[in-house]
Amino acid sequence: AYSRVLEIHKRHLSPVETAYFQKPLLLHQGHMEWLFDSEGNRYLDFFSGIVTVGVGHCHPKVTAVAKKQIDRLWHTSSVFFHSPMHEYAEKLSALLPEPLKVVFLVNSGSEANDLAMVMARAYTNHTDIISFRGAYHGCSPYTLGLTNVGIYKMAVPGGIGCQSTMCPDVFRGPWGGSHCRDSPVQTVRKCSCAPDCCQANEWYIEQFKDTLNTSVATSIAGFFAEPIQGVNGVVQYPKEFLKETFALVRERGGVCIADEVQTGFGRLGSHFWGFQTHDVLPDIVTMAKGIGNGFPMAAVVTTPVKIAKSLTKCLHHFSTFGGSPLACTIGSAVLEVIEEENLQKNSQEVGTYLLLKFAKLRDEFDIVGDVRGKGLMVGIEMVQDKISRQPLPKTEVNQIHEDCKDMGLLVGRGGNFSQTFRIVPPMCVTKLEVDFAFEVFRSALTQHME
Ligand code: PMP
Repeated sequence: AYSRVLEIHKRHLSPVETAYFQKPLLLHQGHMEWLFDSEGNRYLDFFSGIVTVGVGHCHPKVTAVAKKQIDRLWHTSSVFFHSPMHEYAEKLSALLPEPLKVVFLVNSGSEANDLAMVMARAYTNHTDIISFRGAYHGCSPYTLGLTNVGIYKMAVPGGIGCQSTMCPDVFRGPWGGSHCRDSPVQTVRKCSCAPDCCQANEWYIEQFKDTLNTSVATSIAGFFAEPIQGVNGVVQYPKEFLKETFALVRERGGVCIADEVQTGFGRLGSHFWGFQTHDVLPDIVTMAKGIGNGFPMAAVVTTPVKIAKSLTKCLHHFSTFGGSPLACTIGSAVLEVIEEENLQKNSQEVGTYLLLKFAKLRDEFDIVGDVRGKGLMVGIEMVQDKISRQPLPKTEVNQIHEDCKDMGLLVGRGGNFSQTFRIVPPMCVTKLEVDFAFEVFRSALTQHME
């Protein structure tokens, strides 16, 4: 069966769908934080699909309610009312602070960000949209203009470009030091300028102002930010940075959009939403991935009077599949499981344990440049050595990645050079599983150094 799948893949799937591994995995079954291949080998999933399976693969409660809803009603379309949609909108909005109370249901993160972009432009009557270099906000033609991470550079002509601004990357940028980000782990960074957090923040703010100044003062429609950059390799900003940038954008009449596609739903542990960790209040929040634990659904939440109403200028905004009875039933079950199983608290406790444990690898291996993150969103940035901080060549990172897989551990990758391992397990993960993952990852690094 394996060779037949490879053959079909080669012939009938787009060549852009490249496999994650040299010897691709043929997955067959999942249970909570574990996956099983077609030969019965098991893998600890420390990437959650791609940061999606928040409450665990085939979680029994979510699966049971989905089965029941399948028997009752799968689909209507949001022009017809149905209580799963209304109940879900009420539940979801209760988790957001005032005045973020109006929910639009769509099907993917890209769609959610597309809609947020339309809202920002419709509300402000401005055109320019700003995102960070290194950002990932989607793959649709609109959001490709926002996505700026190296491996997803837009190479097709005629796209809708947005403005990109300097990514305030504490490890890669000219300012170092973990005091510039919210983390219990110190960065080992020989930085001659020895900045303090305020200086680094100030420097990045100046870069941000430069970007704003390239637009006509009255043309800024919106600013998109992931509270922690995911695809770019778990990049955290200096403290206060989002607070100040949000204020600058608003001074110019723009709105601020938090992309919670990876950071939402309790993954960061200390708060339910990533924007809360920066002590900011966005005008629009977009979410996907963990919202449906793997079932396609996404949402945009915004303010009723200010922004949601302005969209009526567009007369109609519609999604055939958005907010289906099945998606909303699953979404509600996911929210219940997060609460019933205390998964946000688990993200906090196990996440801190994970971060501190993996941070030890930085002392042991010169090729481990930085270990960072928050809750169950951790990045391990691989370098040639700690002084040069040159990214470890991709072939070497590939080998470590492959070796982890062969020893039963799946981790993700990210960063401009694909140099950062991303550790983002389902939120039900235990400390014992973190210990197993640590031993596997450490063995893969040891093997690499031999
Ligand atoms: N925003 C962020 C932060 C993401 O990580 C992603 C997906 N990696 C998206 C948006 C796009 O989501 P989707 O693939 O569901 O369109």
